[in-house]
Amino acid sequence: MTKNITVLGSTGSIGLSALDVIENLDGAYRVFALSARSNWKKILEQARRHRPKYVTVFDPAAAQKLEGNLPSGVKLLPPGVESLMEISAHPQADLIVDGLVGGIGFAPLVSAIKAGKTIALANKEPMVMAGETLMKECARWNARIVPVDSEPSAIFQCLECEGGAAAGDIARVFLTASGGPFFKRRGSLSGVTPRQAVSHPRWNMGPKISVDSATLMNKGFEAIEIAALFLLPLEKIHIVIHPQSVIHSAVEYKDGSVLAQMSRPDMRLPIQYAITYPDRKPSPVRPLDLFSIRKLEFYEPDLRRFECLSLALESARRGGGWPAVLSAADEIAVELFLSGLIGFNDIPSLVRKTLSAYNGSGRSISISDAVEVDEWARNKARELARTGGFRRKTAPRKIKC
Ligand code: MG
Repeated sequence: MTKNITVLGSTGSIGLSALDVIENLDGAYRVFALSARSNWKKILEQARRHRPKYVTVFDPAAAQKLEGNLPSGVKLLPPGVESLMEISAHPQADLIVDGLVGGIGFAPLVSAIKAGKTIALANKEPMVMAGETLMKECARWNARIVPVDSEPSAIFQCLECEGGAAAGDIARVFLTASGGPFFKRRGSLSGVTPRQAVSHPRWNMGPKISVDSATLMNKGFEAIEIAALFLLPLEKIHIVIHPQSVIHSAVEYKDGSVLAQMSRPDMRLPIQYAITYPDRKPSPVRPLDLFSIRKLEFYEPDLRRFECLSLALESARRGGGWPAVLSAADEIAVELFLSGLIGFNDIPSLVRKTLSAYNGSGRSISISDAVEVDEWARNKARELARTGGFRRKTAPRKIKC
């Protein structure tokens, strides 16, 4: 039977790869709904090609451009988060590919979970905000999250090899990181420009996650995400810099055996696995050539140089609302950095200052608490950015990513 897929964030890096994967799967899957932030030209092209039932764009001006231009049978839903929630929970949608970026994805994810959906999840910020609570909601509503991001997917695949191994069988998880564009760079990172920060050596990704990879915040987010996804205590998660990005993560079992998932760094592979799970299908990804790789290297991360990673791990240890504050503050800091309004090293400073201003407890937070904490932290980070001496006198032009 053909499965209906909703693709959230269809014009972003994950969405584009997901549509590519779906087309390669020979009609077994049908695009049911598409959403984008503002790229109306791209989503129009996608709507013409895939003929979904629903299309929505977040930006009202972009929605106006689409009005009357979509092919017949494709319905344009009003701009806004409610439409994202609607297509995430629609009774006819069998699978949600969630390629949204940032905290904006929280409400649509909750909506998909409450509708008992299977969610191929790339949007990590909601899992950082309230992963433990969201996993409890999944159990309650019989929903399932299959990770799309390459490292959580690798761990998921290593666990699946053991029939979904129990946490007690796992000695350690090696969460690998490429190290980002500045792993080998010497000297201060204060002069790093947005353009340099988004040029990732291994992965081709959107601007937010590229900057998060450059600061290593992304790895901290992933540690928080996998702790929630696989019920892992933080002490069992070991972050390893592996510049070749061939091992996408590994699981060490209690008998000392280590299972690793390896492939070329191509997002279409974990996206496809999340879509076809539990089946494996042929994919367009080129096979790994071990002879051309020759060597695999592993290094410890430098937590002093990449303060975002230590802030993330500290927030994870504290628990409660801290990871939500971390995620929201980082989103604001990255936005300001990409706009040229603060420097690269101001990202960890702004996140640290926002975390210092928070006085929540370490108690597990509810869905509504997470939304509240997120909003508080965004406002606080913006206020600190205005008053904390961050802004440059002259703002460089915003780069287009
Ligand atoms: Mg990743």
